[in-house]
Amino acid sequence: MFPLRPKIAAMAGYVPGFQPPDGESWIKLNTNENPYPPSPKVREAILAELGDGAVLRKYPDPSSQTARKTAAALYGVDPAWVIMANGSDELLNNLIRAFAGEGEEVAYVHPSYSYYATLAEIQGANIRTFGLTPDHKLADFPTVYEGKIFFLTTPNAPLGFAFSLEKIADLADRCRGMLVVDEAYVDFADHSALPLLQKHENLIITRTLSKSYSLAGMRLGLALARPEVVAALDKIRDHYHLDRLALAAASAALEDQACLQQTVTTIRATRERFSAALRQIGYTVIPSQGNFVFASPPDGDGKRVYDALFSRKILVRYFSDPALKHGLRITIGTDTEMDAAFEALRQIG
Ligand SMILES: *Cc1c(COP(=O)(O)O)cnc(C)c1O
Repeated sequence: MFPLRPKIAAMAGYVPGFQPPDGESWIKLNTNENPYPPSPKVREAILAELGDGAVLRKYPDPSSQTARKTAAALYGVDPAWVIMANGSDELLNNLIRAFAGEGEEVAYVHPSYSYYATLAEIQGANIRTFGLTPDHKLADFPTVYEGKIFFLTTPNAPLGFAFSLEKIADLADRCRGMLVVDEAYVDFADHSALPLLQKHENLIITRTLSKSYSLAGMRLGLALARPEVVAALDKIRDHYHLDRLALAAASAALEDQACLQQTVTTIRATRERFSAALRQIGYTVIPSQGNFVFASPPDGDGKRVYDALFSRKILVRYFSDPALKHGLRITIGTDTEMDAAFEALRQIG
């Protein structure tokens, strides 16, 4: 019939978390969105850029210079070490396209972000996973890993723990290919791999503005890496991957560090309070470095609790994966939302 590539025909495709229509009264704790609005400067910058709309006739800056410079100043690197992206998902995709050809290997930790596997499948790359020990150490990682890319999500999603800087440095040394440290949640964590960037040639750090900066709807991400890597990613991306409004939003958001700090401090405090309350009612809660917790009910039946929450219009994330089905990933919302979620969980038992 259609000359579809067999690998694409056979693919299941990634299933994102459920997005109820805007305006429905769910407590939405299933896709790690930020419950607080982005910096008011973001709205101002978007409106200033938009003006009467005439500016939309013209293509945006193809290389995101202003946003790159803002990010570079923020992270203390030269702008040649930064690339902006249409969500960090775009970077993950282009990293695979840049580094892993058909039949070559990419790896990631299981459980972590399974979208890496979907992207590798599209490329025709082979996928390998490394499991975790019960105390969240990498199981069976070889002394020398020969694959083209190893994706390390830290803080880990959906479990919430983070790998130490020593461990990340050790992994960079062991990888013959690239080590991509996916720091989607790092603004909620105690440490970042940023101090390792200059020293480890194969290190790439990806960030997103979707979570800590409350901009999931703008689709903004960035990567920090050596200029050679940035140049390669620049070659294969769409020329105009970021629209004018997104570019305006990116710089304004990154510049407002006071807003970021305030949101992050609040969410971290709510996270600790919610985790402690759940432990009081017999839940096992992994200490989290992200804006979510992985929590397991005493009977280890995540699906039962998911369904009971769903019927109360509270959305959380349940994974049927055998390594995760004993619990739920619950995004940290506002204090009011978490009080409601806790009360529901207490009733459900
Ligand atoms: C949310 C998330 C992303 C994707 O971020 P976007 O910038 O929204 O594409 C990437 N990696 C992990 C681990 C995430 O949780």
